[in-house]
Amino acid sequence: MTEEEIRNFAGCDYSHAVSITNSIYKKRINDISLLPGIPKLIREKLNEISVPGIYKPAASEKSSDGTIKYLFRNRQGLEFETVFLPGSRRTTMCVSSQSGCRMGCPFCVTGRYGFRGNLSSHDIVNQIIGIQDSEKVTHVVFMGMGEPMDNLDNVLKACNIISAEWGISLSSGNITVSTVGITSGIIRFLEESKCNLALSLYSPLPEERAQAVPAEKKYPSHKIIEIIKNFPAVKKRRMSVAYIMINNINDTDKHLEGLKNLLLGSRIRVNLLPYHSVPGNSNLSSSPERMKQFKHELVMSGISASIRESRGIDVSAACGLLASGLK
Ligand code: SF4
Repeated sequence: MTEEEIRNFAGCDYSHAVSITNSIYKKRINDISLLPGIPKLIREKLNEISVPGIYKPAASEKSSDGTIKYLFRNRQGLEFETVFLPGSRRTTMCVSSQSGCRMGCPFCVTGRYGFRGNLSSHDIVNQIIGIQDSEKVTHVVFMGMGEPMDNLDNVLKACNIISAEWGISLSSGNITVSTVGITSGIIRFLEESKCNLALSLYSPLPEERAQAVPAEKKYPSHKIIEIIKNFPAVKKRRMSVAYIMINNINDTDKHLEGLKNLLLGSRIRVNLLPYHSVPGNSNLSSSPERMKQFKHELVMSGISASIRESRGIDVSAACGLLASGLK
């Protein structure tokens, strides 16, 4: 719930509603009788009709690199995974927006798992506050299971709660929502949120992209890039393209030129990601040397680019591998 919803629900004023949201979202207090700073009458009323709703993961697996993959199961029985990526400068939570996904990208295990259901804003926010060490989280990325633009109401509400001062209070510049591109959803997201947007590209060549990202047929990435390019800049908001690099598939000079043509003159950054092989697919990631060369060429042409390291591969927590252990 937002602060306003709690105000209406509990029949209390702004300061008491903020005491409640601060206690739940920041201090992770999961017992209404322990909520400080609210009148006894309101606490008793809330105790009768509600619970704070923080729930723990059903299981977890820790990678040798410190990454932790959590499995959550909500009240409806939907299963979804969340990845905790601790670091010295930033600690990132990679959250899911859906159980499974209906976008059907063949290179992604979540796509093969199929669509099981949308996650509520409660399920999304709980992936951050329901784990141990959650107070260490500095960044949130919607790059787990699901296509956020396919569950946009709940994603926007979760972004609001994560970024609000009365909520978890992370800067919207530290929250990134990743999408394969649903045009109307992207426009609404850009207008109604200040969070960062990442478009998962796969290839700058439309016919080729359509093979790997079926959404391309209905929502052409070139049009989406134009929308992003033309959207007025918002301070601290970053627009990026996530580019999974596959050896001899989308890492040739032709692809490099295509990327340059698509992005030149924009403020869109390119994040290059190693590919993680999925069962039944013999493709391999581009070599580290090729990735460095790609990055170098992009930067030299005036496009900001970086290489993202793989984390949590040994527990199937890396990009494209979520849902590997789910039935
Ligand atoms: S890559 Fe993203 S959009 Fe495509 S199937 Fe996987 S989770 Fe869904």
